[in-house]
This record gives sequence, structure tokens and C-alpha cells, in this order.
Amino acid sequence: MTVTVRFAPSPTGHIHIGNARTALFNWLFAMKNNGRFIQRFDDTDVLRSKQEYADAILYDLHWLGIFPDATDYQSRRFGVYDAAVEKLKAAGLLYACYETPEELELRRKVRLSRKLPPVYGREALKLTGEEREALEAQGRKPHWRFLLPNFRENPFETERTEIRWTDVVRGEETVDLASLSDPVLVREDGTYLYTLPSVVDDIDMGVTHIIRGDDHVTNTGVQIALFQALGAEAPAFGHHNLLTTSSGEGLSKRTGALSIGGLRESGLEPMAVACLAVLIGTSENVVAVPKMSELAALFEPTATSKSASKFDPADLVVLNRSLLHNMPFAEAQDRLSALGVSGERAEPFWLAVRGNIEKLPEAANWWRVVTQGPQESVDLPENDRSFVSEAFDLLPPEPWDGTTWKTWTNAVKDATGRKGKALFMPLRLSLTGLASGPELADLLPLLGREGTLARRP
Ligand code: GLU
Repeated sequence: MTVTVRFAPSPTGHIHIGNARTALFNWLFAMKNNGRFIQRFDDTDVLRSKQEYADAILYDLHWLGIFPDATDYQSRRFGVYDAAVEKLKAAGLLYACYETPEELELRRKVRLSRKLPPVYGREALKLTGEEREALEAQGRKPHWRFLLPNFRENPFETERTEIRWTDVVRGEETVDLASLSDPVLVREDGTYLYTLPSVVDDIDMGVTHIIRGDDHVTNTGVQIALFQALGAEAPAFGHHNLLTTSSGEGLSKRTGALSIGGLRESGLEPMAVACLAVLIGTSENVVAVPKMSELAALFEPTATSKSASKFDPADLVVLNRSLLHNMPFAEAQDRLSALGVSGERAEPFWLAVRGNIEKLPEAANWWRVVTQGPQESVDLPENDRSFVSEAFDLLPPEPWDGTTWKTWTNAVKDATGRKGKALFMPLRLSLTGLASGPELADLLPLLGREGTLARRP
């Protein structure tokens, strides 16, 4: 059977680095197993879900290097869920409940005071046909609960019922169905909670592995029971730890914290984001690799830690720098060209500056320095000014190459007696306007003799 995974966000906001972790765990798992990746939008909440968010999520995934084999929307499949509801009702596994939230809360408190687990006591199962009619005559509408298989004969005598699975990420897992309330699958206004549509889709779409955040571990107990109630075999499950901000807060699509779009706009490379999103919170070293196939080789689901993992955006910059440092010109060329960096000098320019930038768009600043001169006028002390002037008189004739800087500075050293920082810093300042930057040996041939002379203070 073809390994089939899915990434199933609700399109109610922009995805963040934590969502990207889920998407990438699925994508890499599919890559490693020659599998398929389905993009499924869990948009049963039609009021909060928006097509523009779904489009933005697809855009973000493409940017990260994820290209789904298929895309589907739950809002187009309500008829299929309705059929599953009928099937469950016919089997006596979905029952109508009429309690208001206040009534449920009161019952919960009573159970707690009697030292009983605060789960739903299935009171609605005891309603007679007349009682239900009377409630409906009062204008109450039912919500529908799934009868968990946590009893032998009598649903009011629940007993420990372990649902076990070997989690692709966490290893052996167990959920006791007797510790859970019968989940509501359909609200009183007829809308679906996520639980049932997700299982119905996973069956229909042939999903073989559900990989998602560990906030869903308990749901998995319920969902495995639901797969079985619908006559299907449950797929494999994997639950990865969640990412939090450095202060330990959870990430939310609604707050926009660490959104993929924001990271993209800040000029980061997609693979820096992907590498951190996947490797953080695992026993693997967090390194930057330039290709998804290389990240797949490092990806080992079972190496994931079980506790939440803090995410420090500063680590992204470290990874980004390392990607740029090793990035061949061919890979940067189009984006450099969009920044105005083109022509014969573009490649040697890139090789000169790539080790000195944190984000690729910063190359544009260096391009201006190389093509137009320092951005700010350089204010050298008088003795440095005359030193630089003398040095400029000693510039060797063209052609210039990578050795010209050494030839020139040797001559300057002999003529002036200056050496070390006292020699090169005034030259660096005059040539670039900045106290640090790419090797001057690399920059000099880019400036050319004429460009260099134009920088004489
Ligand atoms: N829509 C659910 C969520 O975003 C999907 C969970 C799942 O993968 O099953 O949490």
C-alpha cells in the first residue's frame, strides 16, 4: 500500500513554524517512503475558514519546498460526513443529547465532589422517546455524542478499555477510553466538530499514517474507536512534540507569531526555516542543509523528544548565514538579479559577499557599495587621510585579480612603514565606508582601478 500522509490545518489564519513542523514531518516521511502527501483543509468551521488563508498556506508550503500530490477541502464533503452520521446512528453509536453547557458544568462539579471522574455520565442515553420529544417541543436541539466502546453490556458500567498503538514518533502509547467523555461529533446547529470528518476523510483518502502534534494523542484513542465503528482499520499514528516561543508560550495561527510569511519577508531562506522546524527538539544536531533530500536523510521521527521544544528565532539567522555562505552563484542568481545584482561582476561579487551577510537581500547593500561607493562620506582623521592619499598613488596598474590587494598593500607598507590594522582599516573605510565586510582582496578587482580611485578621500 502506498504510504499516504496528509497535512490538515484549518484555514483560519497563517501557518507558523509549528505548523510547518507538522507539514514537514509529513512531507519528509512521504519522501523517505516514496509516499503521497495530501493537503487537506479542515474547514468545517465555515465562518472562521477563509479561502485566502488556504491559498496563503499553499503558498507558504510551496515556498518551504512542499508540493502536495492532491488538495481537498472538508467543506466540499459534508454529504460524505452526513452519510457516516447515518451509519453511526443506525448502529446505535451516535446518540442525541440536550444538555446546555451550564447543565454539563453543574454535573461535572457534582461528579468531582463525589470523587468520580469528571466525564459525561451518558444521562441522555436514558431519555425515553417522549422525554426527547418534550425537550424538542421546548425548542431544544440535540447535539450528538459517539458512544465510546468502553463497556461490556451496560454503557453505565464502563471499564478500563485500552486503545494501544505503536506511535511512529513516540513508541508505545495507550489511551484508556473509560477516562474520556463520549465525544460530541455534531453540534446542535448541525455543524461538525473536527473528529468525525477527519476520520471519514482519512478512510476515504487512503491515509496510511497520521502525523500530527502531540496535542492530539487523546483524540487518537477516540479516533481509533471511530475508525473501527465505521468498519475501517485505523492507520498508523505519529505525534511530534510542539514548539513554543522562547518564553514558553504556544504558537497560534491567530496571533501570527513566527508565521512562515513573516519569516519569508524577513529575508530568511526556506531551508533555514525547514531545517530548524524539523531538527529542533530532536536528538539530531540542528544544522542547515541546502536540499530537502538532505534534510530527509537527517530526519528520524523516533529521535524527536517527548517534551515541548523552545524555538529561538535567532537560531534561524545562524542557519541562514551558513546556507548563504555555501550557496553557489547559480542558486542565488535569479534573486540577486531581482535585487539589481547582474552583469559580469555578479558572480565574483556573490562569492565575495556571501560569507558576510545574514540574509540574501543584504547583498543589495554591498552591491551599492561596490557600484556606487560608500553610502556615507568617510570622515578619516587627518593623518589617515594623507596616508590613504599616498597609498592611492601606489595603486598598481590593471589588470587586477585576487593578488592585487597583496601587491598593493606590500608596496604601501614599504613606502609608509604602516602595517596591520593601521594600514588596512583606513583603506577599508575609504573603499567601503564600513569597518568590516568582505575580504578587500575580493572586493578590489570588483571595484577596478577606476572605481577605487573614485574613492580617494
Ligand atoms: N485540523 C486539525 C488541526 O489543525 C488536524 C489534526 C490532524 O492532523 O488530524 O489540529
